[in-house]
Amino acid sequence: MPQYDNTGAPQPRDEGPQAPGGPLIHFDKVVKRFGDNVVLRELDFDVAAGERVTLIGPSGSGKTTILRLLMTLEDVNGGVIWVNGQPLNLMYRNGRLVPANEAHLRQVRKKIGMVFQQFNLFPNMSVRKNLTEAPVHSLGVSKDEADQRAEELLEMVDLRDKIDAHPTQLSGGQQQRVAIARALAMQPEILLLDEVTSALDPELVAGVLDVLREIARTTDITMLAVTHEMGFAKDVSHRVLMFDGGQIVEEGPPERIFGDPHEERTKSFLHAVL
Ligand code: ADP
Repeated sequence: MPQYDNTGAPQPRDEGPQAPGGPLIHFDKVVKRFGDNVVLRELDFDVAAGERVTLIGPSGSGKTTILRLLMTLEDVNGGVIWVNGQPLNLMYRNGRLVPANEAHLRQVRKKIGMVFQQFNLFPNMSVRKNLTEAPVHSLGVSKDEADQRAEELLEMVDLRDKIDAHPTQLSGGQQQRVAIARALAMQPEILLLDEVTSALDPELVAGVLDVLREIARTTDITMLAVTHEMGFAKDVSHRVLMFDGGQIVEEGPPERIFGDPHEERTKSFLHAVL
């Protein structure tokens, strides 16, 4: 259950869901602490439906925490995260907002897919089962339909021939492409990518980024990506958010952020990584 600050971040207003047509993701004065370490301090930002946003910035600046909060893998300590006009970490009961229960969180998680740095495939299941298990059991999709979708998705990530393989028989890059296909098998509205190429050998990075570029080109899925791959960020994102110390230091279209950064902290970060 989320623990709310009694002081500091404002409590959520009891005013019902947001109007339709608003942002798909809305962070409203979100606070996240780990013990005394305040990682996010009343963070506000929006992401529109279909927008692809890249989070860049030094290690420890809170980027992964933002994705984990969206995936409800962490609780907020204050503020509200709205997804599609619904509070993510809260729910309505008798017209009042109360902390979300597990059933609400399960519903929310269905709309959001996440791909992690360490592929996190189910090691004891075939690739096919990795892709069909959750759609069949959580979405109630028929086995045949889930199978067909798995084949299409594997085609897209160029691994159709590995459908009956086990994750241990695949390279890291192949596992990560399966992980991307698995996230998409749930037909999420939002795809969260957390440094998905950081654990890969350099020669395997391009294949994974190509798959993501293709998804960006051919779908209108909303993407939030934490990445150190600045070339990829330039290619796929509509907007880049530069974080430092849990705050957005600077934001803008990639051409502007990479070509003409205004803030000293952005300049020095880009100088170090490019
Ligand atoms: P980034 O993704 O920008 O590298 P993170 O979101 O991973 O940053 O981390 C932000 C801060 O939160 C860091 O100071 C980190 O040590 C801290 N942090 C993240 N997760 C935990 C956790 N589970 N427990 C304690 N501290 C954490």
